[in-house]
Amino acid sequence: QVVTRFAPSPTGYLHIGGARTALFNWLYARGRGGKFLLRIEDTDRARSTPEATQAILQGLSWLGLDWDGDPVSQAAGAARHAEVARELLQSGRAYKCFATQDEIEAFREASRAAGHSTLYRSPWRDADPSSHPDAPFVIRIKAPLEGETIIRDEVQGEVRIRNDQLDDMILLRSDGTPVYMLAVVVDDHDMGVTHVIRGDDHLNNAARQMMIYEAMGWNVPVWAHIPLIHGPDGKKLSKRHGALGAQEYQAMGYPAAGMRNYLARLGWSHGDDEYFTDAQAKEWFDLGGIGKSPARLDLKKLENLCGLHMAQMDDAALLHELRAYLIAAGQSDLTEGQSEHLAASLYCLKSAAKTFPQLIEKAEFALTSRPISPDEKASKQLTDVSRGILRELTPQLQNASWKRDDLEAAMGTFAEAHEMGFGKLAGPLRAALAGRAVTPSVFDMMLILGRDESIARIEDAAA
Ligand code: GLU
Repeated sequence: QVVTRFAPSPTGYLHIGGARTALFNWLYARGRGGKFLLRIEDTDRARSTPEATQAILQGLSWLGLDWDGDPVSQAAGAARHAEVARELLQSGRAYKCFATQDEIEAFREASRAAGHSTLYRSPWRDADPSSHPDAPFVIRIKAPLEGETIIRDEVQGEVRIRNDQLDDMILLRSDGTPVYMLAVVVDDHDMGVTHVIRGDDHLNNAARQMMIYEAMGWNVPVWAHIPLIHGPDGKKLSKRHGALGAQEYQAMGYPAAGMRNYLARLGWSHGDDEYFTDAQAKEWFDLGGIGKSPARLDLKKLENLCGLHMAQMDDAALLHELRAYLIAAGQSDLTEGQSEHLAASLYCLKSAAKTFPQLIEKAEFALTSRPISPDEKASKQLTDVSRGILRELTPQLQNASWKRDDLEAAMGTFAEAHEMGFGKLAGPLRAALAGRAVTPSVFDMMLILGRDESIARIEDAAA
């Protein structure tokens, strides 16, 4: 069974790159009936905060990336990590090193002066345990001295690292705490992780982590180190490129389905497919489709995909997500009446908006209540003449059946009788019904608002 994981360090918000890493792991597992696990790498006590953990969980939830089981705390596993270090000591694959900081510094100084590699080589590696002093020590792994370590990476191909570049890294500090590199390997092994998909900034770690797998005789997971995300200018992604936190995208009102689609395309491709559903993404996602060069952030594309998803969304789900957006954006929730009006207008609005703020703007006519206060442009439509026309129109509307065809016919006849094009009539009607010059179609608005409300608004404007 495939088991993937997302292993964020809770030191800030959920970065857009982290969200993409999580998505890739989620898609890979979900498309294969596997498990997607979450591990909070909170071993850096000084920098990890519960708020950051919450922000990450919230971001994942927003994106709909559900994980299996409870999130695992890496810090909680410290005793287990230390146990593995001692096991390696027992098996002779690790050793106690009593070198002091000063001795290590002196070694490095001398190596530098002699033009040698400054990788530390401990004299304790081959020391006779009976000669061990009663002093503080660290546990170091015995790194291979010759040959090379080969990382078979699904994205990067075969990455070879000369073993003389690897030092006897510390596994357990002198205070008995395990190092991060050990914790990751032990956790991945104990959690049964079969595929590690993560940023290629961890590629170097993979070589060191392989030493531990090797020494413990554990199966190495499948590695897939994915290129980082770059800004539109091809430079490393940074604040000046715009929003970096997943939650910022939520607050900007992008629907999660569009965001997932976009993030999936950020560094992964399936032929020429741009728009796809979750079901397709799960079916199609594979490691072979991940590109070798960094993907560039493209907000235009994000918006377009969001628009396509918005148009396809089920009304109830859309409304539900819109309300979550309002809350996340610190705005007040919809009233019951507003929800109803909005629900009734989605059929014509949802294909015209790419984000929730755009949708709300287009739905404004349905969300506001009388009296409608026309903005400047709309006011210009309400002249003495046009108000007179609206007054004449009202009785006709009273008698019209409130069906699209009949409304269209009635207005057509009315416009003809007044020797004006329908366009001339539409401007004042928009102003009356919505108080705006740019609105959804007049008929859509009238159908959504219903007869009484529509006529009342027209009467208000005509008065
Ligand atoms: N905690 C690491 C990070 O946030 C991820 C480590 C890993 O995936 O192995 O970058």
